[in-house]
Amino acid sequence: MPLKPDQLIRDEIRALAAYHVPDASGYVKLDAMENPYRLPDDLRDALGQLARDAAINRYPDAAASALKTRLRESMQIPAEMEILLGNGSDEIIQILAMAIAKPGAVILGLEPSFVMYRMIAAYVGARYVGVPLKADFTLDVDAMLAAIAEHQPALIFIAYPNNPTGNLFDAGQLTRILDAAQGLVVMDEAYHVFAETSFLPQLAQYPNLLVMRTLSKLGLAGLRLGFLVGAPAWLRELDKLRLPYNVNVLTQQVAERVLARPDVLEQQAAAIRAERTQLMQALENLPGVMAYPSAANFILFRVAQADAVFDKLKGKGILIKNLSRAHPQLANCLRVTVGTPIENTQFLTALATSL
Ligand SMILES: *Cc1c(COP(=O)(O)O)cnc(C)c1O
Repeated sequence: MPLKPDQLIRDEIRALAAYHVPDASGYVKLDAMENPYRLPDDLRDALGQLARDAAINRYPDAAASALKTRLRESMQIPAEMEILLGNGSDEIIQILAMAIAKPGAVILGLEPSFVMYRMIAAYVGARYVGVPLKADFTLDVDAMLAAIAEHQPALIFIAYPNNPTGNLFDAGQLTRILDAAQGLVVMDEAYHVFAETSFLPQLAQYPNLLVMRTLSKLGLAGLRLGFLVGAPAWLRELDKLRLPYNVNVLTQQVAERVLARPDVLEQQAAAIRAERTQLMQALENLPGVMAYPSAANFILFRVAQADAVFDKLKGKGILIKNLSRAHPQLANCLRVTVGTPIENTQFLTALATSL
């Protein structure tokens, strides 16, 4: 008799809800922290040429040497540190989790934070412990230190700035966590360009610190490229879990070419940071809206009835993210990605008549 899924699939996998991505076609898309700007025409032409000439009949460079060299330059990665590339930083989270998933191993995160830490812990059969943030989404450092002492986590994920709250945790408090942790601590700097601060310079000082970044929020979400930076002794082990050709030919070459023009993405990031300030001021001036400070390219805000507001916005063609049921501390919270000036105005106009 062939077995059924409930006999064969692990209980913790059947208990998971799949990561839901709504169909966004036709909407003003402000739900996924994408950069709203396209690349300039001359660069797009160069990428067209590059795709024409790319040897897609061959496997990619498994070491991605050219791309790594470019990343080192454009991200000021310390020479003594190693780089691991992932098919998005999601894949790097998975590699890290697989590497430490001994029976009973604990992955520690903050709550609310990026959902993939918890999901991927379940994929690999690790125990996930979430330490609640304070009501204003700042770090409860005493709770965090107590959880580290109690659970001795093999791996700690800290999103810096945090998603979905948008805030940057206090660097001094994070240093206390780095001092206390015996396992690995991953600073997930997905929103680094919008925060303009980093733990990269601290890598030399903390042997168990790893810094993770992605090109997704920077403007290349479709390429799927994330990377991890840290001491060679750690990255050599992690690299054994990376599938040999995880970063494809086109991703390697396109990322390399776009990063060779750092002015392009930096100008776009600067425009998004300026628009974030405008959007924040406008939200703060709307009665019935409570916006939280953001160092990222999105703003979390609370309204009286998030479900109704979300549905009304959707009815007016604006897609944002409803986090109301994602976590008890996010009740009635919505998250909007900073778009172009026109998109932000469309969103604000629609929001004003949806509250
Ligand atoms: C978006 C996001 C990621 C995942 O990025 P990909 O590189 O696209 O997989 C990781 N961490 C945080 C905090 C994010 O918000």
